[in-house]
Amino acid sequence: MKPSVSTDPSAAPLLGLAAYAVSDASSRGRQHPEPAPQYRSEFQRDRDRIIHSTAFRRLEYKTQVFVNHEGDLFRTRLTHSIEVAQIARSIARVLRLNEDLTEAIALAHDLGHTPFGHSGQDALNDCMAEHGGFEHNLQSLRVVDLLEAKYAEFPGLNLSFETREGVLKHCSLKKARELGDVGRRFLERQQPSREAQLTNLADEIAYNNHDVDDGLRAGLITIEQLLDVRLFADEHERVMQRFPTLTGRRVIHETVRRMINRLVVDLVETSRGRIEQAAPASADDVRGYTETLIGFSDTVRERNLELKRFLRTHLYRHYKVHRMSVKARRVVTELFAAFMEDPQLLPPEHHGLARARSEESGEAGRARAVADYIAGMTDRYAITEHGRIFNPATAS
Ligand code: MG
Repeated sequence: MKPSVSTDPSAAPLLGLAAYAVSDASSRGRQHPEPAPQYRSEFQRDRDRIIHSTAFRRLEYKTQVFVNHEGDLFRTRLTHSIEVAQIARSIARVLRLNEDLTEAIALAHDLGHTPFGHSGQDALNDCMAEHGGFEHNLQSLRVVDLLEAKYAEFPGLNLSFETREGVLKHCSLKKARELGDVGRRFLERQQPSREAQLTNLADEIAYNNHDVDDGLRAGLITIEQLLDVRLFADEHERVMQRFPTLTGRRVIHETVRRMINRLVVDLVETSRGRIEQAAPASADDVRGYTETLIGFSDTVRERNLELKRFLRTHLYRHYKVHRMSVKARRVVTELFAAFMEDPQLLPPEHHGLARARSEESGEAGRARAVADYIAGMTDRYAITEHGRIFNPATAS
């Protein structure tokens, strides 16, 4: 019997890549040329290298809003990255974009994050103010290009150009000039691939929605407050109409999953419309466009912004989150100052790196090696290391 084929246009198609998708054949390749992989695409190989990296395993103990020891049920950067990959792959498949590339970008996009989320990054950026600054996007690229030490023939993971380009979501023009090929699009004001654009939006969909879920779980925000946010209120109303007796966590999950679905469906339909209108002939064709082809409708973009504003005011600036941020900032700042003042406090491997880098480029080189060491730390490692350096009662 022939399998039934759905004629519903919203059903997920199993079709080949679109002409405007990135493909192995159109890829700009790797910095260090390698033979083509067997039984895998180039971007599957990128994805696999990312999964086997040390930085990827560290994501399990790094956090975004809540610190790792605050509870076992909150998202970590690892589960966040997996959620981003899930959303990005669904969108890529229906738009016939390169699913392997979106997955690789999604799993690598947060590899350069410091411990303790944005407060850790801000603190490290302040520490590095006179030595070129610190930015997590650039650090993610640095991890995959340089810091991972796994292969005999090259430093880093030697990923494909399109994966590296997708990891580097934004960067200053000054940095773009230093970065060469992967920075060029910022200087030429060109768009990255559609795969990079959609993974960026999948990141936003994932964190806005899981922060609602985590924020409610932590008791830092309430459903009553969220009813002022139309994206939440609309779906919450639908859930309560359909299941009037439903209570507790199932109400939250039913609402959040519908919010994600609404955003994803809107993104797919809006992007599909724009792609059909523009009718790009190739992946490179789209780079010069001034508008991105992947995006939300005006209404949903506005709703999404409303949700972001809500989270900024009520969750990210909540006094309990703020207290933890201040502690995190102190840990990062004090570790940096201690290692800069006395590099011998560094473990031998990092001490060696700091010495080599300072021979190359003086104090800035040493600072970069210290920043690499701190950025690589997980939340709990940073807390323990801080104790080992500052608390005489802790073993060194
Ligand atoms: Mg992210």
